[in-house]
Amino acid sequence: MNILLTGGTGYIGSHTAVVLAQAGHRVVLFDNLSNSQASTVDRLAQITGQRLPLVVGDVRDEALLANTLRDYAITAVVHFAGLKAVGESVANPLLYFANNLHGTIALLHAMQATGVRQLVFSSSATVYGNPHYLPIDEQHPTGSTNPYGRTKLHVEEMLFDLARSDASWHIACLRYFNPAGAHSSGLIGELPNGIPNNLMPYMAQVATGQRAELTVFGDDYPTSDGTGVRDYIHVMDLAEGHAAALQHLGSQPGWDAINLGTGQGYSVLEMVAAFSRAIGRPLPYRIAERRAGDTAACYADASKALTLLGWQAKRNLDDICSSAWAFQQAHTT
Ligand code: NAD
Ligand code: UDP
Repeated sequence: MNILLTGGTGYIGSHTAVVLAQAGHRVVLFDNLSNSQASTVDRLAQITGQRLPLVVGDVRDEALLANTLRDYAITAVVHFAGLKAVGESVANPLLYFANNLHGTIALLHAMQATGVRQLVFSSSATVYGNPHYLPIDEQHPTGSTNPYGRTKLHVEEMLFDLARSDASWHIACLRYFNPAGAHSSGLIGELPNGIPNNLMPYMAQVATGQRAELTVFGDDYPTSDGTGVRDYIHVMDLAEGHAAALQHLGSQPGWDAINLGTGQGYSVLEMVAAFSRAIGRPLPYRIAERRAGDTAACYADASKALTLLGWQAKRNLDDICSSAWAFQQAHTT
């Protein structure tokens, strides 16, 4: 297949590029580099032995997208491009509507104009809002608690309407739980700008000494040790989930939503213990107040992905932490 990855130089896009290129697909990257670097192409070449084409552009540029789809005879698109910081979306919702909603509409117009009808969309467990029950299956009611989450939900709903209006579309919304870890080469991984919002990159920066200690947000949740529980999924497992979804999509018209998680939740303190094992010493932390808007626990029922795609996560928490640590060490000067 000839596959376009919007947001292809980003964290999840670059790992998916590795898996797809190594599976023999022709992969084209499209990214405005607002949260990634063009040098990712060099690192992908080191890993795969292939220099993947990168088109530098914004997904809101419909004409550039249409030309790219034609020039590379693209048959399927994976749409990663978008902004993802919850706090920033609360402060600047228009920025999020422009990138995530307008960007997707422009992509859909370009796909419609060029006859490309297979789309995998990067969705998120955030579309479930606050969990009503656990584990969360795809039947769980949807909702949103912030502008970022609303963009994911709105896009899913737009895609649903589109697929219902025209039976030629094949669309899968992949609802990621908590992506973490890095490729085993240590060449690509997650490198957030500024102070990390997420647990894994924060722990990695504490381990290098860039930050003094981890602040654990709350130890009075109704969980085994009182700290928040999440479903951390290795980014390479996630990447393989995209390959499985693309394979499935070819014979599956319509719209579907599929969880990509492990089905297993871990608490913040369990994550601290796992990261401490990876670095070979205790990771310093202190308990603080809960973070506003956080939920106690969130983990997937991942059985639909296994039944439908034949996919399940293979890597464990130690693989996640050791790969994240190897990447962080290689990228700390
Ligand atoms: P990322 O920021 O590393 O990658 C996104 C890429 O999109 C970046 O390279 C960025 O430069 C690019 N981009 C942003 N806006 C663009 C635009 N208007 N035009 C072209 N390129 C643009 O983020 P990621 O973690 O790889 O996330 C990828 C997707 O997965 C996002 O849609 C995100 O919302 C979704 N997602 C991520 C997580 C997570 O925890 N990382 C969880 C659930 C869903
Ligand atoms: N967390 C924490 N300290 C941090 C960052 C996160 O204790 O500096 C906790 C957070 O409260 C949650 C878990 O770690 O229970 C995962 O948080 P993250 O932001 O990575 O993912 P999300 O909450 O969006 O699922």
